[in-house]
Amino acid sequence: MDIHDRVRAAVRPERVVEIARALCSLPSPLGEEGAVGALVARLLHQPGIEVQHEDVVAGRPNVIATVRGAGERPPLVLNGHLDATVHLDGWSHDPFDPWVADGCLYGGGITDMKGAVAAMIAATEAAAALGGLPGDLILQAVMHHDGTGLGTKYALASDGPEAGFAICGEPSELAIHTSNGGAVKFEIELHGRSAHICRAEEGIDTLPAALAVYAALGRHAFSCEPHPRLPDLPRMLIGQLVAGSSPAHVPARAVLRGDVRTVPGLGRDAVRRQLAALVDDASMRVPGHAGAFETAVVRALRPDLIQTAVVPRRAGSAGQAPDARIRIERPGALRALDGYTDDPASGLTVDATAHLDAAVAALAAALIAFATT
Ligand SMILES: [Zn+2]
Repeated sequence: MDIHDRVRAAVRPERVVEIARALCSLPSPLGEEGAVGALVARLLHQPGIEVQHEDVVAGRPNVIATVRGAGERPPLVLNGHLDATVHLDGWSHDPFDPWVADGCLYGGGITDMKGAVAAMIAATEAAAALGGLPGDLILQAVMHHDGTGLGTKYALASDGPEAGFAICGEPSELAIHTSNGGAVKFEIELHGRSAHICRAEEGIDTLPAALAVYAALGRHAFSCEPHPRLPDLPRMLIGQLVAGSSPAHVPARAVLRGDVRTVPGLGRDAVRRQLAALVDDASMRVPGHAGAFETAVVRALRPDLIQTAVVPRRAGSAGQAPDARIRIERPGALRALDGYTDDPASGLTVDATAHLDAAVAALAAALIAFATT
């Protein structure tokens, strides 16, 4: 049997279904990845697989599994996240009681991305059974991908690898994405002066300025070098506009929050600078602009990396906790893209499906490429 047949024989679709069902039966919203992490570690506890089950934050583990190869090739990393957002509206069945219909497995969080994690676990099992890999196969089943990518950053900064191949199982309808945009979430905060309706002329109303800024954001084209693989980027969305505190008071504060999907070369500072210039310019267009707002703050949001809660790498070695931050940020390691890189639509998918045959075929193809390249 040649290598292609051996790989195909080693990956069993029914095993992928079995694992995916088990993963989807356990809710694992952001912050509650512990139970599903323990399940993944139990599943991988098999001959030929080294399993590292390590809390990044108390009760919230990364599970790293390694099938050792001959060291003739760089490692292949399979990366998937354990946290999964499941919106409970609109399901025809209990999303945590997965079911098969029309050749598809349905379950909460299966698209993003317990289906992929299940396929990667099955692939890891198959690789261990197959043996004779030219390089290490490393499965990273990580906590806390949403917002910061903390689990992956922690895994790469702590253990690497710093070179090699990697497949991330984010939903792409099985298309291979070789590039991904970065993201900068931002906030524009306008401050004025509140006043009751009976003395409204004493107030400084931020709402007209906020609407002017909103309109200007809609017209804004970021100045940056286009990227040939990311023709739809950069793009921007304003997801929130919040102003005022009561129907009878001049709104003294208005906040716009949005998201810019970026190309290489359009970093956080560049986004913030361009938005700040836009706010200055837009405020000049507001009738009576001198009083449109007193101050404007434009900030690029960076979700807290919760480093204060990161568990020291080695229990008992005092003073390790602050070091966790350094490991996450350690230069030279492979880095996740800055900010939000997930498919924004996938988290909202209800009754999402995983097309198992195609998923298995894609993984088998990846394994074949790895084993024969
Ligand atoms: Zn995802």
